[in-house]
Amino acid sequence: MKTTPAYLQIQHLRKSFGSFTALDDISLEINEGEFICFLGPSGCGKTTLLRAIAGLEQQEQGRIVQAGCDVSTLPPQQRDFGIVFQSYALFPNLTVNENIAYGLANMKIPRREREQRVQLLLDQIHLPDIGNKFPGQLSGGQQQRVALARALATEPGLLLLDEPLSALDARVRLHLRNEICSLQRKLGITTIMVTHDQDEALTMADRIVVMDHGRIAQIGTPEDIYLQPATEFVARFVGSMNLLPARVLGHNQLMLGHKDVQVPLILPPCDEGTLGFRPESVQLHATPWGLDRNEQFVFQARLDHIHFMGAFVRLEMSFDIGLPQIHVDLPVEQLHSLNPAVGASYWLSVPAAALKFYP
Ligand code: ATP
Repeated sequence: MKTTPAYLQIQHLRKSFGSFTALDDISLEINEGEFICFLGPSGCGKTTLLRAIAGLEQQEQGRIVQAGCDVSTLPPQQRDFGIVFQSYALFPNLTVNENIAYGLANMKIPRREREQRVQLLLDQIHLPDIGNKFPGQLSGGQQQRVALARALATEPGLLLLDEPLSALDARVRLHLRNEICSLQRKLGITTIMVTHDQDEALTMADRIVVMDHGRIAQIGTPEDIYLQPATEFVARFVGSMNLLPARVLGHNQLMLGHKDVQVPLILPPCDEGTLGFRPESVQLHATPWGLDRNEQFVFQARLDHIHFMGAFVRLEMSFDIGLPQIHVDLPVEQLHSLNPAVGASYWLSVPAAALKFYP
């Protein structure tokens, strides 16, 4: 079967600043029309990778191939992309129309067609009437939508978004999230967005590239990344996984704190590791009756605090055996039917499928 090559191929990219390695042998393929998020903590290299793709940063090693052309050494103006930065970066002395049309000036497009294209973009960002305003007369959210229209005006093959939502307040951010997604789907434009916000990545991306110290920690769909975090780093960074340090005693036997426990997993041959599970996969019980240790991880913990979170409640629970505190998320109705008391001890269970062990 003949497969089409990926739209963007990044091969063994390496970039240092002095003795600091910002990108360490990054290889990645992005398909046409995909929405990709580069996700990771501050300093992990996601912006540097985006800038290398744009040609704004020159890599020391590696290749970037876009639509079958090796663009590795091309300057930014000869590459085919539109970019939106965190700080809207509009020209303050140009009107919205002039800002959006800026990139079209060199393209020898007749004036009438240019005006039509600008108006179409204004319609697409749902701001049809602001063409004659100046950036200073617009809200942050409106300016960012204009920046998006400007990036799309030349109909580039690739849209690059560098933390485009992080300067906006929470409500505008949510709204613009949806707007970017629907515009991206409508245009079918291959898009890469840099973000350190896991919710943004989980809700917007087709695939997420999780980065850690200049390397790729995991690439996968939001569901893969959330449900099957490949490493402890990914588990810690995406969602709020409970992670308990453990010593391995046998093929299904762990020492947690100073307690010897059975887990419904086949543990790898190693000395120690971390047992992980999500707060929402824990169930709370008054007694251990009926809990099967061959199918569930069963343990006891004390309820320290109950936090009402709106759609659910978060319980903070602790152990007397020298382990970190854990979180348990329950639907509000379940809390009412269980009616747990702060200070009391409860039995907890986690189904085998929701347990992870990181050697
Ligand atoms: P942030 O969200 O904080 O920007 P990031 O993951 O996007 O994080 P990068 O901006 O890619 O991180 O930077 C990666 C590392 O490279 C950081 O430690 C940063 O200090 C360093 N770095 C980036 N640009 C330069 C530069 N021009 N000179 C020196 N160091 C740099």
